[in-house]
Amino acid sequence: MGREMIRGRGANNAWLGPDVAVMARDSARQFARKEVAPLAERIHRHDELVPEAIIRQMAELGYFGMSVPEEYGGQGMGNLVMIVITEELSVASLASAGSLITRPEILTKALLKGGTEAQKRKWLPPIASGELMVGISVTEPDTGSDVASIRCRAERGDGGWYLNGAKAWCTFAGRANVLALLARTNPDPKAGARGLSLFIVPKDAFPGHEFEMRQSGGGVLHGKADATPGYRGMHSFTLGLERYLVPAENLIGEQAGEGKGFYLQMQGFAAGRLQTGGRATGVAQAALEATATYAAERKQFGGAIGDFQLTQHKLGRMATHVAAARQLTYAAARAMDADETAALEAAMAKLFASDVAVWVTQEGQLVHGGWGYAEEFAISRYVVDALVLPIFEGVKPILELKVIARALLGERAG
Ligand SMILES: Cc1cc2nc3c(=O)[nH]c(=O)nc-3n(C[C@H](O)[C@H](O)[C@H](O)COP(=O)(O)OP(=O)(O)OC[C@H]3O[C@@H](n4cnc5c(N)ncnc54)[C@H](O)[C@@H]3O)c2cc1C
Repeated sequence: MGREMIRGRGANNAWLGPDVAVMARDSARQFARKEVAPLAERIHRHDELVPEAIIRQMAELGYFGMSVPEEYGGQGMGNLVMIVITEELSVASLASAGSLITRPEILTKALLKGGTEAQKRKWLPPIASGELMVGISVTEPDTGSDVASIRCRAERGDGGWYLNGAKAWCTFAGRANVLALLARTNPDPKAGARGLSLFIVPKDAFPGHEFEMRQSGGGVLHGKADATPGYRGMHSFTLGLERYLVPAENLIGEQAGEGKGFYLQMQGFAAGRLQTGGRATGVAQAALEATATYAAERKQFGGAIGDFQLTQHKLGRMATHVAAARQLTYAAARAMDADETAALEAAMAKLFASDVAVWVTQEGQLVHGGWGYAEEFAISRYVVDALVLPIFEGVKPILELKVIARALLGERAG
């Protein structure tokens, strides 16, 4: 296997099944290599924002509407095609391409599950066309895994809801045109998860690492990006909201959606986790290709390091793990295509593929030796990018304990 990986430079030719998925992979690979890969290093090293040209081209290719049904202006291509595209984009860059689809996917799934017909008609077409960029705002400075305890408040007034409080780690919040924001509409702390509602919060798009959005009525939304070693290109913001007014019709599900935000958000996260299975597989694939290429070219002790059995052994194991992550993710995508509520497989795919991405990128870095630590070699970016994957959308221990194990035990008990 190791020798074969080196000979083929780690290329991914995995069997896919439907022709439409094969065509999607070819076209996404071509786009990612030609348009994204040449910019990826610069965006990472200078912590730049994803260029508008990438967003525009992805919009033209229909990538933001893969899971939006055709009747709402999307492609209705389903989860497998969406995952194959995500994987190819993530090979080129996790943050400046592969992760752009995640946010619209999460909001799309939440709207399809709990939105009113009018809300679906209003929001899904511009999400699908890429006209609206989306941020997801759940986490707060003092509350992460314990989502039911979030404190950002929403109070009724002036035909809408006033939002007050702090949010943390809202990726893409600067550039985003709307935030899907989870807030407490029932002040009774005993209400817990049942006191939360999900809002679509409009805002202007801002470039850069800090912004302030002021409403004519005095509402303020302030955002400041937190510096990170990797996952650059979208920026993740700490947010402060003061009397920020959101129209009543922007509460997902309107009256019927009050108190359902936690449930809808979790539906969205199931889609996000499937996405992350694809993102993680893409990062691991990038490391595999870079490492196979390096092993063929780097010479020590009078021969290519890829001629050493130890290097071949490493590449064989790396390739097997990447293939397993990919196939688990595809299986989760197929399961979700058959049944939208199939969240368990998606959580497993996210958990496993994220671990694989961390391990494979670090193995690849070792094969690169000292040059693996140089910014000049892309493997150093893959290592820092991969590290975020087991953290977001359910940090690894929570995913294991509260999502996967609970679902298994629940199913057995049922
Ligand atoms: C780069 C980046 C981008 C992000 N983007 C977004 C975004 O766009 N939107 C958003 O809403 N959030 C985002 N997040 C936030 C992310 O989802 C949270 O960081 C994550 O859910 C974990 O929450 P926390 O950081 O508060 O950790 P905590 O909840 O404080 O957990 C820390 C650790 O405590 C332990 N722990 C906690 N509870 C338990 C328990 N019950 N049992 C056992 N152990 C436990 C675990 O070891 C866990 O790893 C992002 C984070 C990062 C780093």
